[in-house]
Amino acid sequence: MKPGRILSGMRPTGRLHLGNHVGALENWVRLQDEGWANFHMVADWHMLTTGHEDTSRLQSDTYEMVVDWLAAGLDPKRSVIFVQSAVKEHAELHLLFSMLVTKARLERVPTLKEQIRDLHLDEQTISYGHLGYSVLQAADILLYKATHVPVGEDQVPHVELTREIARRFNFLYCRDREPVFPEPEAQLTQFPRLRGNDGNRMSKSAGNALMLAASPEEITAYVRAAYTDPKKARANDPGRPEPDERDGHGGCVVWEYHRKFNPEGAAEIARQCRAGELGCVPDKQHLARVLSEALAPIRERRQRWAADPDAVRDVVADGNRRARAVAERTMDDVRAAMGLRSTAEVTP
Ligand code: SF4
Repeated sequence: MKPGRILSGMRPTGRLHLGNHVGALENWVRLQDEGWANFHMVADWHMLTTGHEDTSRLQSDTYEMVVDWLAAGLDPKRSVIFVQSAVKEHAELHLLFSMLVTKARLERVPTLKEQIRDLHLDEQTISYGHLGYSVLQAADILLYKATHVPVGEDQVPHVELTREIARRFNFLYCRDREPVFPEPEAQLTQFPRLRGNDGNRMSKSAGNALMLAASPEEITAYVRAAYTDPKKARANDPGRPEPDERDGHGGCVVWEYHRKFNPEGAAEIARQCRAGELGCVPDKQHLARVLSEALAPIRERRQRWAADPDAVRDVVADGNRRARAVAERTMDDVRAAMGLRSTAEVTP
């Protein structure tokens, strides 16, 4: 595939965990290395859609997350790293797009329904900003005229809404001119989501996350506590490393990590496990070594960046400036297509 332009972001949640790395970051770095034009956004306005009451950690969480992005291998010379709220054009385009989408359409966005369920929200108390967060996402993506959006399966409906908005805008305002917006494609993340060591979805709030810059000792302790096949009580009992084919449940988290971080060895480990030739204790020790080695470059880069906060701030300031330059050009196109002019330019 010929490299295009991607826009991808994260809400500022502070230090990142291994699930964030496997689910997004390593993909960003791969695309960057393949020559894509990467725009990576700290989605601080999105953070407010579900957590506007307490903003005390926004700054420090932004800083820590950017350090982890850099530690993961994003190169600020090749990838634009910026903060959403520093580029006010996101707000302007969001407002204009909000005219093109009905309330009923937003209420059908599946991720909104999931948030309502997972956060135990009352639908009647959803804010105007929260209801429209997928429109803000469309503005984020289209402001940079992104051609592709790297997402997990659950985010595909947002990209579909973005495409709908781009189509609607081009149809309404670009009849006698070049379309302003591309219709971006969802680019599915290849490796399925990594589970936490208890077998559940990895998250900091669930207390089952392995932080990206964990020390070798922390990695060993994390892997030692990992969920394995409960039927394999003794070393020579046969085990079942893979999850159930029918429902995806069960299986062994340790093997899942082998599959990700030790792909050449995973098949043989699965064979030995099934044959009762491998015990969980030595297998976990093996995995801890593999993981520690795999994460060593990230750990080292993090130490270097964290030792120089001014350099991190410079990265963000430069990214904001470069993002703004692109955003301003897009908004010139948008205003021209829509016939919006500043007062000084009003003509009869
Ligand atoms: S031997 Fe390894 S793959 Fe098999 S259940 Fe134990 S930890 Fe999991």
